[in-house]
Amino acid sequence: MAGKRKRYPRSKAVISQALARDQYACRICNSYGMLEVHHIVPLHKGGEDTLENAVTLCKMHHSMITTAQNSKRGQVDPQTGLPYKSVWGWR
Ligand SMILES: [Zn+2]
Repeated sequence: MAGKRKRYPRSKAVISQALARDQYACRICNSYGMLEVHHIVPLHKGGEDTLENAVTLCKMHHSMITTAQNSKRGQVDPQTGLPYKSVWGWR
């Protein structure tokens, strides 16, 4: 609790659980490389560091979704944290 800036520590357990649940593959493209665990509701927007709020993404899709979340609203499905297919043209 020290310092003025609020920090968002992440549970390593949540990361490993999310990876295992998603079978160590990106939820969008099923890539097995460069995986990162993304928070569906960003921690700075009140999201929790829980398995339910975590989704496994490859580095590319993680950055694409993060960009979408930070730009126009409504591009990311709040239920899944993934971009709408109609917007992105993914399967
Ligand atoms: Zn991907």
